[in-house]
This record gives sequence, C-alpha cells and structure tokens, in this order.
Amino acid sequence: MSDLPEQIVYIARRMFERRLTDISGGNISACENNTLYITAKYSGSQKHWQLEPDSILSGPLDADWFSNPLFSREGKAHLSIYHNMPYVGAVIHAHPFHVLPFCAAGKPIPPIMENTQKFGVIEVVPPAPAHSQELADNVVAGLRNQEERIRKQAAAVLVPRHGIFIAAKDLFAGLDALERIDWNAWCVLAQKSLP
Ligand SMILES: [Zn+2]
Repeated sequence: MSDLPEQIVYIARRMFERRLTDISGGNISACENNTLYITAKYSGSQKHWQLEPDSILSGPLDADWFSNPLFSREGKAHLSIYHNMPYVGAVIHAHPFHVLPFCAAGKPIPPIMENTQKFGVIEVVPPAPAHSQELADNVVAGLRNQEERIRKQAAAVLVPRHGIFIAAKDLFAGLDALERIDWNAWCVLAQKSLP
C-alpha cells in the first residue's frame, strides 16, 4: 500500500496554511509505477484542503479519468505531464499568494534569491481556455525542455491570469520548490518598495 495519499494530504495542509494556494483551487498529484494519485474536485472549495487519505483518487495512469465525476477538470494537465514526461513523480498546481500578481500581469518571475537560481526564470505559457487540452499542451511544452531541473528537483511555469504548475521528482521536492518560488516572488515585489 502506497503512502502517497498520506503525503498528498500532508502537502495540501502545508500549502493551504502557508498561502501557497487558496480555497478556490489547485490540485496535487503523484505518480508511482503508472498509478496516479490525485486530489479530488472541490478539495479546496468544499474541504478547505483539510483532506483525508481515502479522499485521494487513485488508479492506473491510463484509466478513463474523465468518467469519474470527482476528477478535477484541471487534472487534464497533470495527465498530460505524466504521459509526456515519465520522469515526473509529482505535479502541484496552485494559486500562490505572491505568484498570482505575476500570473495576472503575464510576467515571468526572475530568480533573484540564491535558493531559486536552480529553477531559472519562471516563464509564462501562452494563454488558452481554462481546462482545455490546449492549455495542458502549453504547460507540457513549457516544462518539457527542463528535464534536468525536474530530475534534480522541480521545474515550474505560470499560466496567465491563473496560477502555477510545478513538475517535480517527488511531492516534497515540489512543495519545497513551490515555497521557494513564492517567497522569491514576494522579494521581487517587495524590492520595488525599498528606497
Ligand atoms: Zn487553478
């Protein structure tokens, strides 16, 4: 029995309490031996990210996920990432407090802190309708050339006016990257207020 559902529950709580995502959305998944584990629809809006392991959906990666009414529409991007990049162990989609201004403005996040150099500039993918396969394809295209970063820890892209997608080697590497990128984003914004 995998402990990935417990890990996802843990990550969800930490993300929410640290404002790394909001009530309205996000989703967390992990993939091991072609089995996908992913947070269900409404994990934010109805459960406020206070999840239990048995609420995490699981099944073969190539199952017909869209026939499951609890499968999040944003899960499309997660599936595309795992199908195209088998070295990815976890995907986090989030609406982080300090990253969202960059998404709103459609501006990339430069890595100004030492501990975010390894992620490079967090680029913005081209816009596409929410929950569309086109958007999922854009996210994959933005991450695909970052294999080395993902194998070491993680890589990320921004979706215009929406949020961030992180592909990581595992869940804890993804959470660590999410927090580093969010605090780095805060530093970019706060720097502008210094005399
Ligand atoms: Zn979202």
